[in-house]
Amino acid sequence: MGDEETGRLGGLLEATFEALQRTMQEYRVKPVVEAVGRVTFVGHGIARVRGLADVRAREVIRFPGNALGMAFNLDPEEVGIVLLDRNEGLSSGAEVRRTGRVLDVPVGEALLGRVVDAVGRPIDGDAPPNTRRRLPIERPAPGIMDRAPVTVPLQTGLKVVDALIPIGRGQRELILGDRQTGKTAIALDAMINQRNNKVICVYCAIGQRMSAVAKLVDDLANYGIRKKTIVVATSEEDPPGLQFVTPYAAMSMGEYFRDRGRDVLLVLDDLTRHAWAYRELSLLLRRPPGREAFPGDIFYIHSRLLERSTHLNDKLGGGSLTTLPIVETEAQNISAYIPTNLISITDGQIYLSPDLFRKGVLPAIEVGRSVSRVGGKTQLTAYRAVAGDLKLTYSQFQELEAFARFGTRLEEHTRKSLERGRRVREVLKQALYEPLTVPQQLAALVAMIHGLFDEVPIHYVSALEAMVRNAVAEELPEVCERIELGRALDENDRRLMIEVAQSVIDANREMLLRNEAGDHRSVPPSI
Ligand code: ATP
Ligand code: MG
Repeated sequence: MGDEETGRLGGLLEATFEALQRTMQEYRVKPVVEAVGRVTFVGHGIARVRGLADVRAREVIRFPGNALGMAFNLDPEEVGIVLLDRNEGLSSGAEVRRTGRVLDVPVGEALLGRVVDAVGRPIDGDAPPNTRRRLPIERPAPGIMDRAPVTVPLQTGLKVVDALIPIGRGQRELILGDRQTGKTAIALDAMINQRNNKVICVYCAIGQRMSAVAKLVDDLANYGIRKKTIVVATSEEDPPGLQFVTPYAAMSMGEYFRDRGRDVLLVLDDLTRHAWAYRELSLLLRRPPGREAFPGDIFYIHSRLLERSTHLNDKLGGGSLTTLPIVETEAQNISAYIPTNLISITDGQIYLSPDLFRKGVLPAIEVGRSVSRVGGKTQLTAYRAVAGDLKLTYSQFQELEAFARFGTRLEEHTRKSLERGRRVREVLKQALYEPLTVPQQLAALVAMIHGLFDEVPIHYVSALEAMVRNAVAEELPEVCERIELGRALDENDRRLMIEVAQSVIDANREMLLRNEAGDHRSVPPSI
């Protein structure tokens, strides 16, 4: 082979090598993150998926047919996903996709007056709310420096709550009691009482019957507060994953207003069902069970949620978010796992007793077992004139009543205390959907503390109490106005109220005597 030939061959080889190098560069395989995975297992409300590399906790996952799920368990091999839609058709082998988005919900004014599910989809039959902003369902709670003390009362309109267990804006007050003891009713009355102010209401139904939610929405409309209320609801038939995220979604929707300086009242109805949904998901996803089969972090799950309810400082707009979480007890056992957890997370509790409910003492609040830890400081000064006396009389009465049941002969003084106590209980009763203004409440309480009802037969007390309230509102508008503005009741105001109450009772004295002498069967039975 001559030199010339060798040279040509070398050149050819070089050219081939360069061409090969260029081709290899063009076709170099770059590692890409696969955003598609495959379902390996489908259970009730959950799915396990392989192949979703780098998926984030709480990231939204899309299933065939646009059904949604949320990444929950991030194991090295597989991702546990909770389903947010009922996807009956889902089976192993189906393809799923990451969305890169952590679960969030629409927020804003457009949601007021609407009923939506836990991911913000309308369930009231109207078009999707026209919102522009979204917030993640899990947001960090405001830090200590961002918070301000709770100073403004949140009036519920219920005499027994506002006088004895006052709630402040930004507080978390637990409502607990057995089934059908009037838990929802208290929260509903508290919402209705906001009809004449600027407080925004968010009602969150977790795993409830949709017929009950529909009735509540009707009530909101009938009492004129539907337009300032957001209802976030999941039904008992919804997958547990959707039930689980409901209170977080409702909290974010409320926070939108709180962060804009508004006051918000959030009702979570109820966290027992929320805990059940979380337990179900955790067991299905094989997280280790703890006490009562609830996962060990159930306390953290609830405290993280309720910590977000607060009163922000002025630099952050001074907004507040008051939460009334509801929890259902079984056989009055408030020391069960979930109720004790929630009692320790919240700033107080309103305990509803099935015994009082049966006796017709409504709202069935057991004052001795109820407490409000921060609200007392916010109570309007006018209540100070009655609250102390009322608490003392009522707690003494409860002890005496238990004692008097043994048929002991009673001294005059004890008999009087019992009679007064019975009247306190009568005056603290309140019908559903009838929240009262502060002056109305005080008119009744002042008359009672002053002993004006002592001589009135017990079954007439509630009728007379209503007359006294109305008369005070009509005849003393200036006094009422001053109370509304937060002024204390001075001696003169008290005297005027008592005079009006006395004249109402005197005007009806004859009627009472006549009825007493006549037929007893037509009068309402005393309890
Ligand atoms: P559940 O455990 O089913 O959620 P609950 O504890 O929320 O029940 P509610 O539904 O609020 O109880 O009330 C039970 C019943 O008692 C309802 O029919 C309601 O109308 C009635 N009720 C509640 N409070 C009062 C009241 N103050 N006056 C008259 N009726 C009342
Ligand atoms: Mg209820």
